[in-house]
Amino acid sequence: MAFSLLSAYENSAGSITVQNPATGAAVMTIREYSAGDVEAIVKKAQASLPAWSKRTGKDRAAVLKRWNDLILENQEELAQIITAECGKPLAEARGEVAYGASFVEWFAEEGKRAYGDVIPTHNPASRIVVMKQPIGVVAAITPWNFPVAMITRKVAPALAAGCPMIVKPAEATPLSALAIEELARRAGIPDDVFRIVTTSSPREVGEVLTTHPLIKKISFTGSTAVGKILMRQSADTVKKVSMELGGNAPFIVFDDADLDAAVEGALISKYRNAGQTCVCANRFYIQDGIYDAFITRFAERVASLRVGDGSENGTDVGPLINAAAVEKVNALVKSAVTDGARTVLGGTPDARGGNFYAPTLLADITPDMDIARAEIFGPVATVFRFTSEDDVVAQANDTPYGLAAYFYARDLGRVWRVAEALEYGMVGINEGILSTEVAPFGGIKESGVGREGSRYGIDEYMEMKYCLFGGLGN
Ligand code: NAP
Repeated sequence: MAFSLLSAYENSAGSITVQNPATGAAVMTIREYSAGDVEAIVKKAQASLPAWSKRTGKDRAAVLKRWNDLILENQEELAQIITAECGKPLAEARGEVAYGASFVEWFAEEGKRAYGDVIPTHNPASRIVVMKQPIGVVAAITPWNFPVAMITRKVAPALAAGCPMIVKPAEATPLSALAIEELARRAGIPDDVFRIVTTSSPREVGEVLTTHPLIKKISFTGSTAVGKILMRQSADTVKKVSMELGGNAPFIVFDDADLDAAVEGALISKYRNAGQTCVCANRFYIQDGIYDAFITRFAERVASLRVGDGSENGTDVGPLINAAAVEKVNALVKSAVTDGARTVLGGTPDARGGNFYAPTLLADITPDMDIARAEIFGPVATVFRFTSEDDVVAQANDTPYGLAAYFYARDLGRVWRVAEALEYGMVGINEGILSTEVAPFGGIKESGVGREGSRYGIDEYMEMKYCLFGGLGN
């Protein structure tokens, strides 16, 4: 299928051919940027900094609002591009486009309100002023699982703050990124202020982006392992970093929970995007008194999920991103079953073959199993039984990750205790989905550094400067 938003990017001599994970078919071939190309782009971004950063917040907001409008006007084609390269069902892809645009709209507004501060002075002859200034040229490296939203969540605050940004998207999903860039051009965002660099050499390009002295900040979303490499590489030039990394989210259901709500929350939290989201519920802890009832009801709902090509009507669960992902998920499931897990549903690649994996539900999981420690990143729910509140909180926190956690309970005292005790950057209480542009998204521990979205998100792209005005007399 030819996409009109991508007509300027078709490059049959290029070396990156994007494949549809549902069919294996080639979607489009695009050009490759080398490390040398990226060096030149960094210099151009630096040259664009003075003019872009000097524009008023209101002026930048007008451009960003046009971009937001264009993204929404092109929602359907963008969704089709996402589904073609990433595999998620079209309805989810449409939702991602709206979610992605929401950051552009939000930060268009926030850019106008990047206030500084006047601090009551320590000396009658002086005054203290704090101003916020754009940090400079910023680079971003993004993953394939939300190929539009993970870009806009970074570019919108950077641009609103006055910073040019260079983005390296995932090799599997560069087309959504290019379509977003095309719409940025149409909105009037200058070429050198926002550039997408597509490459099949992430290491080489990543090295330029993390070591170049003109780049002042790196914002990354992806795995914890790669995030650690990028943090190390950024150390020599002491770059500011934002890291949105992996997770191992617990989803706890207490005896007093609304069971129907918990089952619905579990379904959406686990199986959205075929389980390939960083905030996906990864470990389900169900209290003794409702353990069997929860599994029975959850299994009924999981069994109703329809696996298929994301472009087909009625598909709930699309393919995994590639064959390696299917192998990894299958190996985790097999090892859990060998170690004593009970297969309630699925447990194998889907009968459709290719990159499809059957929605799976495993019960009687124990903490020593590999699957309890790994980020599964597939449509596999693992269920543990627990007895006491203290014990489940300890188990939930027993991981190096600290991105998202969820729990269902109605006792008010318990709700507060557990919300405070969970060592996570985000906690969903009686809710299975918590992403929104108005709230700070991010993790603690090995799940990351910094926050995206909300009124805090723009600070990631600004420096704080303290000015002491002295000699003013008494
Ligand atoms: P990944 O392998 O870490 O890749 C992410 C990005 O880093 C891709 O653009 C990749 O390029 C690039 N990359 C890989 N190795 C690199 C290197 N040595 N130097 C520079 N760049 C490099 O992660 P993924 O498999 O795409 O995404 C899944 C992971 O992302 C999961 O762990 C998930 O939890 C996490 N995630 C976190 C959040 C969050 O907000 N916390 C959101 C979404 C996803 P290539 O594609 O070319 O390999």
